[in-house]
Amino acid sequence: MRYLVLSDPHANLEALEKCLEEAKGNYDRVVCLGDLVGYGPDPNEVTRITREAASAVIRGNHDKACCGITDASEFNPFARAAAVWTQRTLTPDHIEYLRNLPAGPLVIPGFEAVHGSERDEDEYVMGAAEAIPALKEQSLQLVFFGHTHHQGGFLLGPGGTLKRIKMPDQDDGCILSLPLERGTRYLINPGSAGQPRDGDWRAAFAILDEDSRVVDYYRTSYNLAQTQEKMSRAGLPEPLIRRLEFGR
Ligand code: ZN
Repeated sequence: MRYLVLSDPHANLEALEKCLEEAKGNYDRVVCLGDLVGYGPDPNEVTRITREAASAVIRGNHDKACCGITDASEFNPFARAAAVWTQRTLTPDHIEYLRNLPAGPLVIPGFEAVHGSERDEDEYVMGAAEAIPALKEQSLQLVFFGHTHHQGGFLLGPGGTLKRIKMPDQDDGCILSLPLERGTRYLINPGSAGQPRDGDWRAAFAILDEDSRVVDYYRTSYNLAQTQEKMSRAGLPEPLIRRLEFGR
């Protein structure tokens, strides 16, 4: 079984469609780690496509804010404005769908899916302080997480040494193939499909080949100008429009 693992598409239709196109033929199932909506201009289309394509979806903090589970008071003003706009724009049916999404962790044969971390769906696993306890506590060898919008993740070797998984500077396509080794635990971030913050503006995703135990990381260019134009037309905050081109 090959899983296409997507996280944080954030209502960016052009980016999501490009990920699905780039991955075509190389996966059997789709798993989404949350934050379907928030920030981007196409919350209904991205929710619809995710509903249709994914066999497993968990919620993110923006999904909770955009369907009224939380009130977005912890968001910065731009994210809050986008959440309010998203809630107004979503159809009642999609709001209902988002409201009913399960919180992680979700166990899928061979791995586990979380938005933030196993112990807290809203935790940002940015460095050793969060990654070491998370890796020590995880029950399976492999956990996929999102939320930080940084592609890569961490591994804990047999000797208990933590390593950050660094992404090489590569052209579009598979940029890194990571074979999962026995005795090592992995906390893998496929990156954000719709709003990367790791300095690379291209849409990110990963594919897990469950049989050969290999994770392939991908980056793919998408029609960024079109997304930005739609955001302008929707009246979404300018800093959210600009950040997409810097991957910040
Ligand atoms: Zn997010």
